[in-house]
Amino acid sequence: MSDTKILLEESAIPTHWYNVIADLPSPPDPPLGPDGRPVSPAALGAIFPPALIEQEVSTERWIPIPEPIREIYRLWRPSPLYRARRLEEALATPAHIYYKYEGVSPAGSHKPNTAVAQAWYNREAGITRLSTETGAGQWGSALALAGQLLGLHVRVYMVKVSYHQKPYRRSMMQTWGAEVVASPSERTESGRRILAGDPDSPGSLGIAISEAVEEAASRADTNYALGSVLNHVLLHQTVIGLEAREQMARAGEYPDVVFAPCGGGSNFGGIAFPFFADKAAGREVRLVAVEPTSCPTLTRGTYTYDFGDAVGLTPLMRMYTLGHDFVPPGIHAGGLRYHGDSPLVCQLHHEGLVEAVAVPQVATFEAGVLFARAEGIIPAPESAHAIRAVVDEALRCRESGEPRTLLFNLSGHGHFDMAAYDRYFNGELEDYEYPEEAIRAALERLPKVG
Ligand SMILES: *Cc1c(COP(=O)(O)O)cnc(C)c1O
Repeated sequence: MSDTKILLEESAIPTHWYNVIADLPSPPDPPLGPDGRPVSPAALGAIFPPALIEQEVSTERWIPIPEPIREIYRLWRPSPLYRARRLEEALATPAHIYYKYEGVSPAGSHKPNTAVAQAWYNREAGITRLSTETGAGQWGSALALAGQLLGLHVRVYMVKVSYHQKPYRRSMMQTWGAEVVASPSERTESGRRILAGDPDSPGSLGIAISEAVEEAASRADTNYALGSVLNHVLLHQTVIGLEAREQMARAGEYPDVVFAPCGGGSNFGGIAFPFFADKAAGREVRLVAVEPTSCPTLTRGTYTYDFGDAVGLTPLMRMYTLGHDFVPPGIHAGGLRYHGDSPLVCQLHHEGLVEAVAVPQVATFEAGVLFARAEGIIPAPESAHAIRAVVDEALRCRESGEPRTLLFNLSGHGHFDMAAYDRYFNGELEDYEYPEEAIRAALERLPKVG
């Protein structure tokens, strides 16, 4: 029997990140300022270091990974690729199912792949502090870890409801030396303004972003770090797909379809882009982003310019959007509740080069539990979206008798999400289709460009 785990030696950690921009059929549309004119990269210098701004706009296909970053990657990379033999058996499918497991990082998800890189480039630029926001806590813990490993002070503005509802994510960040502030806070002008209007505001990701950006913009020693969406973040995540491609080759296979959950698009881009390089060179492979029906950005959003945040502080980016003031329902996959998506993923979807499907919440948890019972690992609710889509494809293979090879990214474990599993077991979770009128109404409030 062939191996269940396909492991690479540490020397096989990629030496370069893959930049998908080099293989796009047309150049990406630039971010625009409030005046409708392209934002100059230099304008981002108040909150990002020069090396990351360069990566944001680079058209080089391969970007070298600095040795000190590879050195830190060794703590958990290369991550294992598994053949999901027991899941295949449970589904009685002729499909071959593989998954790349990013839950082996100390923070339990793929996010440290970029957190470490961002912290390192900031330190090289003489920055001593990073500010960021976190909703469910996954990005905050990844950056706290990276700050600890590289000696940077990290302040995390954590959405106030999560601060109280997810105390263990908060303690995790504190264990790694980060300072966690419930947002809205009294520390920033943005926070004070919200609190003046509503002292009991539960906070939102949009408000927390405003606080973190304001702090970075107003202090020379401090920069801002974002956990998804931006080109350089997806670039750093390509270590996932580069390793997976090598691991599939060692297993003597090549995927027919690659799946990943999609929130801001970073773990999807991370696993899918290196396979897109093969697709651009003529190889047949389907790349499928999986999102919740409650936040159906790629499947039901509009491809246009919109703000990246709720308040309208960021440049306008061309992407699929549900409207920047979209209020996601309280679904239990915090990492997938974003009104937009990475502009690179959106462009590829718009050009018909990557696909998207939306799956409902209850069926997603059902697939997550099926996976945990077959394979042992309890998936993060975000990751369970990809599992739902893979299970559906594997069942179609059972119908048709086709032995397709399926690969998905298991972006994280669900150990901090057991309250959501509890609600599933108690029958308290509901499916939520985002209503068409709400989508139309939000789009009427889009910024007017051109
Ligand atoms: C944050 C997160 C996601 C969604 O973010 P992307 O940028 O779309 O990858 C998915 N899975 C896990 C485990 C996460 O922590």
